[in-house]
Amino acid sequence: MQEKYCLNHRDVAAVGQCHQCHKPVCGKCLVTAPNGKFCSPECQKKNQNFKDGYKEPKLHGPGLVSQLAGLAVGVGVLMLLIHGGVRFLGLNFLAGVDMIGKVLGK
Ligand SMILES: [Zn+2]
Ligand SMILES: [Zn+2]
Repeated sequence: MQEKYCLNHRDVAAVGQCHQCHKPVCGKCLVTAPNGKFCSPECQKKNQNFKDGYKEPKLHGPGLVSQLAGLAVGVGVLMLLIHGGVRFLGLNFLAGVDMIGKVLGK
Protein backbone atom coordinates (compact mmCIF):
# COMPACT_ATOMS: atom_id res chain seq x y z
CA MET A 1 0.00 0.00 0.00
CA GLN A 2 1.27 3.41 -0.95
CA GLU A 3 1.70 5.76 2.00
CA LYS A 4 0.58 9.30 1.34
CA TYR A 5 1.05 12.27 3.59
CA CYS A 6 -1.03 15.41 3.98
CA LEU A 7 0.09 18.25 1.75
CA ASN A 8 0.03 20.60 4.76
CA HIS A 9 1.34 18.13 7.34
CA ARG A 10 4.22 16.11 5.90
CA ASP A 11 4.25 13.79 8.92
CA VAL A 12 0.52 13.09 9.04
CA ALA A 13 -0.88 10.28 6.91
CA ALA A 14 -3.51 11.42 4.43
CA VAL A 15 -7.01 10.06 4.85
CA GLY A 16 -8.31 11.30 1.54
CA GLN A 17 -7.62 13.06 -1.69
CA CYS A 18 -8.82 16.48 -2.83
CA HIS A 19 -11.63 16.09 -5.34
CA GLN A 20 -10.37 19.14 -7.23
CA CYS A 21 -6.54 19.06 -7.22
CA HIS A 22 -6.08 15.39 -6.15
CA LYS A 23 -3.59 16.27 -3.42
CA PRO A 24 -3.56 14.02 -0.35
CA VAL A 25 -4.97 15.57 2.82
CA CYS A 26 -5.23 14.50 6.45
CA GLY A 27 -8.46 14.35 8.44
CA LYS A 28 -7.74 17.77 9.94
CA CYS A 29 -7.31 19.47 6.57
CA LEU A 30 -10.01 17.60 4.72
CA VAL A 31 -12.94 19.83 3.77
CA THR A 32 -16.12 17.84 3.33
CA ALA A 33 -18.77 19.47 1.17
CA PRO A 34 -21.89 18.28 -0.67
CA ASN A 35 -19.88 18.28 -3.91
CA GLY A 36 -17.01 16.16 -2.52
CA LYS A 37 -13.93 16.21 -0.29
CA PHE A 38 -11.31 18.90 -0.72
CA CYS A 39 -7.93 20.04 0.59
CA SER A 40 -9.18 23.59 1.11
CA PRO A 41 -12.31 25.77 0.84
CA GLU A 42 -10.68 27.30 -2.24
CA CYS A 43 -10.69 23.94 -4.02
CA GLN A 44 -14.27 23.34 -2.87
CA LYS A 45 -15.28 26.70 -4.35
CA LYS A 46 -13.38 26.01 -7.56
CA ASN A 47 -15.19 22.73 -7.99
CA GLN A 48 -18.53 24.34 -7.12
CA ASN A 49 -17.94 27.16 -9.60
CA PHE A 50 -16.99 24.64 -12.25
CA LYS A 51 -20.23 22.77 -11.70
CA ASP A 52 -22.27 25.98 -11.59
CA GLY A 53 -20.49 27.19 -14.71
CA TYR A 54 -21.43 23.97 -16.45
CA LYS A 55 -25.11 24.64 -15.76
CA GLU A 56 -24.89 28.35 -16.57
CA PRO A 57 -21.92 29.17 -18.84
CA LYS A 58 -22.11 32.94 -18.35
CA LEU A 59 -22.88 34.51 -15.00
CA HIS A 60 -23.98 37.95 -16.15
CA GLY A 61 -25.69 37.53 -19.54
CA PRO A 62 -28.14 34.69 -18.79
CA GLY A 63 -28.76 36.19 -15.36
CA LEU A 64 -30.18 39.33 -16.90
CA VAL A 65 -32.04 37.35 -19.56
CA SER A 66 -33.59 35.01 -17.00
CA GLN A 67 -34.43 38.03 -14.86
CA LEU A 68 -36.22 39.65 -17.81
CA ALA A 69 -37.85 36.34 -18.69
CA GLY A 70 -39.00 36.03 -15.09
CA LEU A 71 -40.36 39.57 -15.25
CA ALA A 72 -42.15 38.80 -18.50
CA VAL A 73 -43.66 35.64 -17.00
CA GLY A 74 -44.62 37.61 -13.90
CA VAL A 75 -46.30 40.31 -15.99
CA GLY A 76 -48.01 37.61 -18.07
CA VAL A 77 -49.35 35.87 -14.97
CA LEU A 78 -50.45 39.21 -13.53
CA MET A 79 -52.19 40.04 -16.81
CA LEU A 80 -53.92 36.67 -16.81
CA LEU A 81 -55.01 37.23 -13.21
CA ILE A 82 -56.32 40.71 -14.01
CA HIS A 83 -57.91 39.41 -17.20
CA GLY A 84 -59.46 36.45 -15.37
CA GLY A 85 -60.46 38.69 -12.46
CA VAL A 86 -62.16 41.14 -14.77
CA ARG A 87 -64.01 38.32 -16.49
CA PHE A 88 -64.84 36.59 -13.22
CA LEU A 89 -66.20 39.72 -11.65
CA GLY A 90 -68.22 40.43 -14.77
CA LEU A 91 -66.61 43.83 -15.15
CA ASN A 92 -65.80 45.39 -18.46
CA PHE A 93 -64.23 42.55 -20.42
CA LEU A 94 -62.66 44.88 -22.98
CA ALA A 95 -60.74 46.75 -20.27
CA GLY A 96 -58.60 43.64 -19.66
CA VAL A 97 -57.95 43.08 -23.35
CA ASP A 98 -57.02 46.74 -23.77
CA MET A 99 -54.46 46.48 -20.93
CA ILE A 100 -52.84 43.38 -22.45
CA GLY A 101 -52.77 45.08 -25.84
CA LYS A 102 -51.00 48.09 -24.32
CA VAL A 103 -48.31 45.92 -22.71
CA LEU A 104 -47.70 43.62 -25.68
CA GLY A 105 -47.90 46.37 -28.33
CA LYS A 106 -45.88 48.86 -26.26
ZN1 LIG B 1 -7.30 20.81 -3.54
ZN1 LIG C 1 -3.20 18.18 7.21
